[in-house]
Amino acid sequence: MRLYNTLTKRKDEFEPADPGELRMYVCGPTVYDYIHVGNARPFVFFDTARRYFERKGWRVRFVQNFTDVDDKIIKRAAESGTDAKSVADRFIAEFRRDAAGLNLLPAAKNPRVTDEIPEIIAMIGTLLAKGFAYETDGTVYFDTASFPEYGKLSGKNLDALRDGARVAVEEQKRRATDFVLWKPAKPGEPSWPSPWGGGRPGWHIECSVMAKKYLGDTLDIHAGGEDLIFPHHENETAQSECANGAPFARYWLHNGMVMVDGKKMSKSEGNFRTAREIAGEYGYDTLRFFILTAHYRAPLNFGAEQLAAAKAGLRKLRGVAAELTLAASGQARPLSAADSEALDALRLAADRFGAAMDDDLNTANAVAAVFEYAQLARASCLSARPQSAALAEEALAGLSRLMDVLGVAPTVEPDAETARRIAELTALRDAARNARDYAASDALRSELTALGCVIKDTREGTRWIYAGRA
Ligand SMILES: [Zn+2]
Repeated sequence: MRLYNTLTKRKDEFEPADPGELRMYVCGPTVYDYIHVGNARPFVFFDTARRYFERKGWRVRFVQNFTDVDDKIIKRAAESGTDAKSVADRFIAEFRRDAAGLNLLPAAKNPRVTDEIPEIIAMIGTLLAKGFAYETDGTVYFDTASFPEYGKLSGKNLDALRDGARVAVEEQKRRATDFVLWKPAKPGEPSWPSPWGGGRPGWHIECSVMAKKYLGDTLDIHAGGEDLIFPHHENETAQSECANGAPFARYWLHNGMVMVDGKKMSKSEGNFRTAREIAGEYGYDTLRFFILTAHYRAPLNFGAEQLAAAKAGLRKLRGVAAELTLAASGQARPLSAADSEALDALRLAADRFGAAMDDDLNTANAVAAVFEYAQLARASCLSARPQSAALAEEALAGLSRLMDVLGVAPTVEPDAETARRIAELTALRDAARNARDYAASDALRSELTALGCVIKDTREGTRWIYAGRA
């Protein structure tokens, strides 16, 4: 498969360095608030990437951190009259709720920065000892001039920045591009003792330390939003390569931004919607599916129209899955020549899905291939008379496999109120059928369909599968 690598700026053939374990690190949330749709995009997309890697037979070791000490967390704690740890604990729990709703596979490890302070101090010590950092009055800076490759990830020409930009008077760093590894504590802020006095780590050093501790010196894939390329990932690269004396990440993957009316969705723009809010309106599964409808490197336009389209698309796939499930429970007969041809056509559609994912994880084309698969399955399995239960079963298994890579389930449960209503209408309909009142039976069928049910009449009565409200 090929992946677009931000480091080489082209699509490169990808394989994990150790086929037994693909090492993947994705920058996690700063836990001071609910995540918004822009934050959710990398989590959903890189979870999908991981699912596909696993489908290809690679065992993935996936690590994602929680930044649980940061200016924003400290500010939030001060505003709400609590401490930074309570704010972080609360929003880690809220993140986990969203992650479960979005069907994100659990990470091998979700390290918290505040649990990794000794390792952070050790790496800063190494950078100082090797001459890649300097200390001034309790602040430790990374010396960007000591790393000639600085700028290689972002491709920025940093000479101008380095030499031309004036350093603000209150800062004691030597160059504009130098960045903080350790900052001294201000009164009332969380702090830890260090050889440079009480303080806390800078943001960039955290990821370098946690990636090394849980995945080793060289990662197969480091991923995150494209807004992290500079300075965060550029700085991670500089720190890690200088401290470890080894390449940091073989492949850098970056997703594009979520856009609202042409502007990046962000806290500071105030144009954000939380994942929780969107889940309440459309369901987490719709949010997940919506995120995957665009190519991950392209901007993703967010709006009611796009969400409604994603919801309808998912409903359509689940409708086909429900019809196939009902057909699979039908009459058993050997596969005919036409059935075998249908299976071949389905395999080709599944291959197109794989080809799309192999080409830089193109979920936009992969989603199109799933629709194509569903349409073919519907045409070949459900129109044949008599239907073949075996064919329907195979078609359903194939559809489920594709949807599983996307992390959206082919079936869905009705909520309690809908389930109660379905049971009621089904009983009424069976009674109407027994009384040969076909007009009433048809009307009840329409009501059940409108509720989101796919219906099949059997000798035992009305069988239904819930596929979600249209
Ligand atoms: Zn990071």
